[in-house]
Amino acid sequence: MKIANKKVTAERLVRDALEKAKHFEDYHIFTFLNEEGALKKAREIDKRIARGEKVGRLAGVPYALKDNFLSPEGETTASAHILQGFNSPVTATSVAKLEAEGAIMIGRTNLDAFAHGSSTENSYFGPTLNSHDKQRVAGGSSGGSAVAVALDIVEFATGTDTGGSVRQPASFNGIYGLKPTYGTISRYGVVAMASSTDCIGFFTKTPEDMDLLMSIASGQDPKDMTTLPDYYNTEASAESGDSRLAPSRPSSRGSGAHSAPVVAYGLESPNSCARVGIIKDFDNDSVHPEIRKALKNKVELLKSKGHEIVELEMPALKYGLAAYYILVPAELCSNLSRHDGVRYGFRSEKSKDLDALYENTRNEGFMPENKRRIMIGNFVLSSGFYDAYFLKAAKARTLIVKEYEKAFSKVDFILTPVSPNPAFKLGEKVDDPVAMYLEDVMSVSLNLAGVAGLAIPAGETKEGLPLGLQLVGPRRSDKRLIEFSKELI
Ligand code: GLN
Repeated sequence: MKIANKKVTAERLVRDALEKAKHFEDYHIFTFLNEEGALKKAREIDKRIARGEKVGRLAGVPYALKDNFLSPEGETTASAHILQGFNSPVTATSVAKLEAEGAIMIGRTNLDAFAHGSSTENSYFGPTLNSHDKQRVAGGSSGGSAVAVALDIVEFATGTDTGGSVRQPASFNGIYGLKPTYGTISRYGVVAMASSTDCIGFFTKTPEDMDLLMSIASGQDPKDMTTLPDYYNTEASAESGDSRLAPSRPSSRGSGAHSAPVVAYGLESPNSCARVGIIKDFDNDSVHPEIRKALKNKVELLKSKGHEIVELEMPALKYGLAAYYILVPAELCSNLSRHDGVRYGFRSEKSKDLDALYENTRNEGFMPENKRRIMIGNFVLSSGFYDAYFLKAAKARTLIVKEYEKAFSKVDFILTPVSPNPAFKLGEKVDDPVAMYLEDVMSVSLNLAGVAGLAIPAGETKEGLPLGLQLVGPRRSDKRLIEFSKELI
């Protein structure tokens, strides 16, 4: 992603990206195009290169920013009416890090409002269209970012993944999408959805680009107390893992089919063989046959390269979806309570008093899916129902955390589908929230457990729709996970 070789100017790259963005206008990819700002930055970088000054690792590389990242360039709307007109005074830590390396944001991308959704159809600005079939959804919630990369408008794009919003649109559009270990990248300056599962991630066309972005964006941030010390750039700490969550590995390889590797894949020798788990429970008729076939093909590929495949039973994962759709609304209804018409963006003007101002602003400003989740969240937290819903879901989450710990004492990585289907038709699930939620059945448990997941391209359907799989790794295994994904190309 470097341009410092002077063969092409930053201005040329940015102009090209902006032109392409305009060419694909009917896909509803962008909520804002940063024409002036991006060109100004590009010219500055070109001048610095001409003067022989040192430039960053992303100098002049155009990128797209999901419109729930705060920065003073353009309004940050989270694709919600209620944030329209909001000009952020702060810059997200992740944005500041990318820009410090010379990356240039050419536009803000469309999402399901407040990242609630799996198709980008819940956006106030209308749905983003799939890069391979304009009749189909882009996936979501980071649909705009995924399509911006898939259509080659930009080299990379940012996303957020609370329950699959990077991995699922990546797989619907045939590119790479990483949900890092929880706490790897600072969430400071990103519109909060559910604080205990929100992760910042990226869309790229190659694992190498993903690695570069992770080495730039990872690290502890005093402004986000959930961030981990930078393990990504320090191999040694990746080995020790998180003592609270990672079980210690048995010390010898060998005997039983389920004995653990002595050293986790990639830590001692990049050429060592890995143990890769596949989840038996996910191999059933509710998964699209071409996705099952794509998984089988990749399993064969891994075997042919000498890796070991281990069948896993992970029964607790079946609680994932139900637990997620209790815990996440509970957290997001609290995070969304700050949108009152006084502090940010849109304000309903027809109100006579303060209560009516809150009510009308929230009623007019939120999308139906936002309101549904606010109601669910308040319900599951209400005193009469807290034990029956929230507490039970919290316990199920602990079972899921333990299920992953157990699995990762036997295998280095797990390979699963990202979602049960390839990109579905626009409008197909908008009136059926449960059908939409079911699309997340294979992605949400990673967020509940805080583990890392990388969506990788895995071919296409007969109709030419991209298929994706996800490679799952234990907490802090992100670097090895990205490295290992090269074995699946
Ligand atoms: N599709 C999931 C949901 O609607 C995930 C969203 C996300 O990761 N932001 O909650």
